[in-house]
Amino acid sequence: MFEIAIRDDLKISQDEMIFIAGPCAVESEEQLVETAKFLSRLGVKILRGGAYKPRTSPDNFQGLGEAGLKILASAADQTGMAIVTEVMDTENIGIVSRYSDILQVGSRNSQNFPLLKKLGRQKKPVLLKRGFGNTVDEFINSSRYISRGGNRNIIMVERGIRTFETSTRFTLDVSAVPVIKEMVDYPVLIDPSHPAGKRQLVQPLALAGIGSGSDGLMVEVHPSPESALSDREQQLDFQQFEKLYRTSQSMFSFMRGQTFLEMEKRER
Ligand code: PEP
Ligand code: MN
Repeated sequence: MFEIAIRDDLKISQDEMIFIAGPCAVESEEQLVETAKFLSRLGVKILRGGAYKPRTSPDNFQGLGEAGLKILASAADQTGMAIVTEVMDTENIGIVSRYSDILQVGSRNSQNFPLLKKLGRQKKPVLLKRGFGNTVDEFINSSRYISRGGNRNIIMVERGIRTFETSTRFTLDVSAVPVIKEMVDYPVLIDPSHPAGKRQLVQPLALAGIGSGSDGLMVEVHPSPESALSDREQQLDFQQFEKLYRTSQSMFSFMRGQTFLEMEKRER
């Protein structure tokens, strides 16, 4: 029965669906604040957005760095939302934790052991993404590098693995959710955006993730996805996000509140 204090006034636990949303990358104050206001009106409490971006090509947008962190802090100030953003490097832990409530380890850094060890020795919660080439066992071992340092405030995120399938960007491994939940008492979230690669696949993957027993979602949303500087094809616009938010909340309540067994009992 996990419970993680994100801030003094914000805890996450199994009782409520954990929803993290925001753009792939912080691009401007206007883009992020507009997104944060929209999300917080809906009831989303944790805002995502990369300031340091791990891009496959060095030619692509790399993020705004500290300027992006300041924009995240301003959006948090204006809405009361908590922030999660990626820390790519041991050198940046100090600066990222000055602005962010949760420190994100991306898929490409999931086995960066010096980074994991150092994050284990500080107090902020760590959101650990599964490496797209890692088994569940390797993923659990990555979390052990963090917990061994004393920090057990870990959020595990399944975000798709690389398989022979090319019709999606990655293959979302929903089987990982119940397997991980048997092994560790941490929240397990699904990121349906990165495996989908295309926005029309985000909702089916999100619902499959909730159906597999995940504790919540981490989803990319952008005020005008067609002009996004990264992951343009997979970010939802506000209307699509709102639909996903409401559908997934009701599926989550169904999963937690009314198991088939309970429904059967009532019918008898
Ligand atoms: C992200 O969530 O910003 C991200 C880069 O995802 P991943 O590390 O899973 O590729
Ligand atoms: Mn992205």
